[in-house]
Amino acid sequence: MQALYPGSFDPLTLGHLDLIERSALLFDRLVVAVLRNPGKNPCFSVDERLEQIRAATAHLDNVEAAAFDGLTVAFAQQCGASVILRGLRALSDFEYELQIAHTNKSLAPQLETLFMATATRHSFLSSSVVKEVARFGGSVSHMVPLGVAEDLARLFNRSSPDQA
Ligand code: ADP
Repeated sequence: MQALYPGSFDPLTLGHLDLIERSALLFDRLVVAVLRNPGKNPCFSVDERLEQIRAATAHLDNVEAAAFDGLTVAFAQQCGASVILRGLRALSDFEYELQIAHTNKSLAPQLETLFMATATRHSFLSSSVVKEVARFGGSVSHMVPLGVAEDLARLFNRSSPDQA
C-alpha cells in the first residue's frame, strides 16, 4: 500500500521525521509531498525543502520526496497512493484536520486519511516555532535534523551548530 504525506515542511522538523520513520514501516512506499504554496510566504524554497527531506530520509528505501500544487487528492491519485497521512499533535490540530479529511473524502471517496499521533517528545514542535527560535538565535538542534539546523543558521546568518 502506498501513502502520501503532504505538508509545507518549511522546514522539516524531527516531529515530521518521526512520523515519516514510523509510517515507512507501515507502507510499501511513502511519498512526502511538499505543497507549492507561495501564499504561505515560505522561508525555504520548494527545492531546499525537498533537499532537506531527501537528506534526512536517505536511510529509508521506501520514502521519496516530491513537490505538488493543486489538490492533494489529485496528487495522491497521480502517485498511486490510497492513503493520505497526517499528523496530530494536540486537540488544536484536530478540528482543521477533520475538516480537510472530510473535504478530501467528498472529493475522492476511495482515498482514506489516516492520522498518526506525534511522538510525545515532539508534540510541541512546529515549523513556525522552529523558525521563531532560530530567528532569535536559540538552539534548534533538538528540534530539526542537522542539515536543517545548518540551513536555518545560514538563513538567519548565525554560525552553524557545528561551529558553535
Ligand atoms: P501544513 O501546512 O500542511 O500543516 P506542516 O508542514 O505544518 O504542513 O505539517 C504537515 C503535517 O505534519 C501535518 O499533518 C501536521 O499535523 C504534521 N506535523 C506537524 N508538526 C508535527 C510534529 N511535531 N510531529 C508530528 N507531526 C507533525
